[in-house]
Amino acid sequence: MFQKPKNIIIAGCGRLGSSLAGKLSQLGYHVIIIDKSEEAFRKLPDTFSGYQVVGDAANTEFLERIDIKNCFLFIATTNSDNANCLISQIAKNIYKVEKVYARLDDAEKQILIEDSEVEAIYPSLLSIEKFEKLSGITFKEDF
Ligand code: AMP
Repeated sequence: MFQKPKNIIIAGCGRLGSSLAGKLSQLGYHVIIIDKSEEAFRKLPDTFSGYQVVGDAANTEFLERIDIKNCFLFIATTNSDNANCLISQIAKNIYKVEKVYARLDDAEKQILIEDSEVEAIYPSLLSIEKFEKLSGITFKEDF
């Protein structure tokens, strides 16, 4: 039987990236979290059961090595709005990832992704409930 793809890539293991990684892996998704600094993975919660890979999320060769073509959801959560806009557009336009989100700290940067199918997430405004609504993924423990 055809199984829905469950691979998720999260770029940047800061506060937002690490907590989303923990929650999504707890739900049974196959999560790969990437960060250019090994030390960042210390922020991952004990519940995280995915893969952590050191690398530059803006590097397409690296993204191919971690199999970006087979992920259905990509979240760019580095600490640079410009990098997140670039990385998320790469995921969407080159690799055709179904759902792509970019963390933006400065709402004015939204103009950079306005004409794309990338959705912006604003950590200052985001709550887990809002992410659930936006993504259609629910964190309620019903299994
Ligand atoms: P924070 O601002 O605490 O949410 O952390 C953001 C994380 O993004 C840091 O751990 C950075 O090392 C990471 N980061 C920044 N740029 C990149 C990049 N190009 N590729 C992967 N990770 C990155």
